Amino acid sequence: SLTVGVLALQGGFFEHIDLLHRAASVVFPSMRPEAVFTAIEVRTPADLDKSDALIIPGGESTTIAFVAQQSGLLEPLRDFVKVKRKPVWGTCAGLILLAEQANGAKIGGQELIGGLDVAVARNHFGRQLQSFQATIHLPFLGENQPVNQAEPVDEFFPAIFIRAPIVEEILNDNVEVLATVPREEKAKRGSTLDEKEKDDVIAVRQGSIVGMSFHPELTEDPRIHVWWLRHILSTM
Ligand code: GLN
Repeated sequence: SLTVGVLALQGGFFEHIDLLHRAASVVFPSMRPEAVFTAIEVRTPADLDKSDALIIPGGESTTIAFVAQQSGLLEPLRDFVKVKRKPVWGTCAGLILLAEQANGAKIGGQELIGGLDVAVARNHFGRQLQSFQATIHLPFLGENQPVNQAEPVDEFFPAIFIRAPIVEEILNDNVEVLATVPREEKAKRGSTLDEKEKDDVIAVRQGSIVGMSFHPELTEDPRIHVWWLRHILSTM
């Protein structure tokens, strides 16, 4: 049986747990999902030990890092991600925490968990008022479909971006870009476009780690949770 932990120090952990339960009933349709799947809130190193995989929710990465440090969770989290290499998925603030580098992290004293060899730019699209929802193309949603899948897969998703980071720099060839948004999304929010010409990277995968800029946990749509559960089951 599979136990997924959701880091529950601050942010959207309750929403992730809710969507995990809904996704589990899709992924394990013929069984009683509760017999094969458990989602738990992770607040202590003991909770983390019980987890086969972990989600780090959106929220405020500086707060999550601070509370993790105070709770003695920072080193166990680094061990979980980088030494044990168990599956981890970070959304928004979770992506920032999983990055090896984040702008502001060095000077502001923000601790990171790391593991993803990327540099993220926090609040790329602007502040709270520039938050937005956009229907984006997530090609990875077509992966790991059941063999009897009859319907064509809908790879478009209503993504919510709240003070969202992007992956600004990829520091290792093992990092796979899973999705981008047109760089004009930033300009639509009133910012001037920077020099670079590439689209903004908003989802990546490296080994057992997945990071996304937006908040799948704030949408009623469980498809990304279904995808992630199938993805981790295929690697276990
Ligand atoms: N900008 C936030 C941070 O730095 C992340 C925003 C979010 O998770 N909604 O943590």
